[in-house]
Amino acid sequence: MFDKFQDECGVFGIFGHPEAANLTYLGLYALQHRGQESCGIVASDGAKLRAYKGMGLVADVFKRDAIFDELSGRSAIGHVRYSTAGGNDFKNCQPIMVDYHRGSIAVAHNGNLVNAQEVRNELEQSGSIFSTIADTETIIHLLARAQCDSLPDRITEALMRVKGAYSLVFLTETRMVAVRDPNGFRPLALGRLDGAYVVASETCAFDLIEAEFIREIEPGEMILIDKNGMQSFHPFGEKVAPSPCIFEFIYFSRPDSTIFGKQVYGVRKEFGRVLAREHAVEADVVIPIPDSGVPAAIGYAEESGIPFQLGLIRNHYVGRTFIEPQQSIRHFGVKIKLNPVREVIEGKRVVVVDDSLVRGTTARKIIKMIRNAGAAEVHMRVSSPPTSFPCYYGIDTPTRKELISSSHTVEEINRYITADSLGYLSREGMRAAAGAPEGSPGHFCDACFSGQYPVKFPRLKADSQLGLF
Ligand code: AMP
Repeated sequence: MFDKFQDECGVFGIFGHPEAANLTYLGLYALQHRGQESCGIVASDGAKLRAYKGMGLVADVFKRDAIFDELSGRSAIGHVRYSTAGGNDFKNCQPIMVDYHRGSIAVAHNGNLVNAQEVRNELEQSGSIFSTIADTETIIHLLARAQCDSLPDRITEALMRVKGAYSLVFLTETRMVAVRDPNGFRPLALGRLDGAYVVASETCAFDLIEAEFIREIEPGEMILIDKNGMQSFHPFGEKVAPSPCIFEFIYFSRPDSTIFGKQVYGVRKEFGRVLAREHAVEADVVIPIPDSGVPAAIGYAEESGIPFQLGLIRNHYVGRTFIEPQQSIRHFGVKIKLNPVREVIEGKRVVVVDDSLVRGTTARKIIKMIRNAGAAEVHMRVSSPPTSFPCYYGIDTPTRKELISSSHTVEEINRYITADSLGYLSREGMRAAAGAPEGSPGHFCDACFSGQYPVKFPRLKADSQLGLF
């Protein structure tokens, strides 16, 4: 049994460009929303790998030109990371880089392995010494022990032992490998820039560096890039039904990115439209909780005909409230981050739209704020279903007992957040809006809403106590 340990991350890689480390920096900058706690770049000059990593935002960690002089070479990979308690330590920064009997290798990982602890226990019993608590290190150990000869085969041999979510980018002195797990939980895109190959968690990273988006790396696909060009493999044998994470559409990815075949913005707006049909209400104004609720609120307003207004203004110099893991700080965080526009709200029947309700803390604080600004009525609309189950594949949802909808009805939650009414997007509505074919339950992972986990995992302490198993 192991405690829940999650990594929310972004990965980037570029092969065959004279400005590799600089472009990786820019790519990470565009992926900053995927992780704000630490970041790192590993570059190769063809003979040697060099790493630079640090705690904090990309622009703060990479603030001296001299760092880029060090990171010389035509290929590089990078990583941004946010992890929950226990993992916020310099030694857990990625990419992880090691020297082993076949040379050097670095890896950047987005996702979460569900059997990392099991495999780690086995490896430790046979003598492995781990230096981080990141599940990614398990992959490195497996790779070092792999018996196969070629790099793709060794990576495959290692990955056959692990289960869960991984979008990975590896870099050796002379090669780059990108892999997406057979379920395709996390996104990973392939692009080109001036003859170089680029990979990134989201296409918004390509836009910034003016790379051309070629296609997504497929679930279960491995791509090897070296001086001879690019090769694609499907090394995992039996095909499983892909189950990309629907929460990437709801909250995690940037609206300007294209993931899982669709631009996120359009999907979010469609969530709002469906929500307006499912939970109509007479009101004077629709306001989003910025920034996460904006596209869905636009969709809600368009569908309902109720005017869209910016009723809450966000201070953009504050990180996501979620960065601070403690409840006491989170309460405070909402006030630092948002302020109501009295003119929009006073005397009005207000529909407030957000993308998700997790603990309920944010909504409760914001509704109080809106009432204090003189609202006549406040109707909360959430552009996803109740989040009742934890994610074990890389989205940082709290343990089950902290998820308000795991133990409370919609009516009870409505009372807690003190709204006049509360409406969640239905699971069917969500899947239809995201384009999941009807009757195709395998198409998205929506375990955080349904409890249907596409990849099984060992019993988890926190949840077994709560009777999830
Ligand atoms: P809560 O106060 O726990 O109900 O948090 C809900 C808010 O957190 C919503 O405004 C979401 O946009 C945001 N949110 C949901 N999931 C995450 C996540 N995994 N990381 C950071 N923020 C999140």
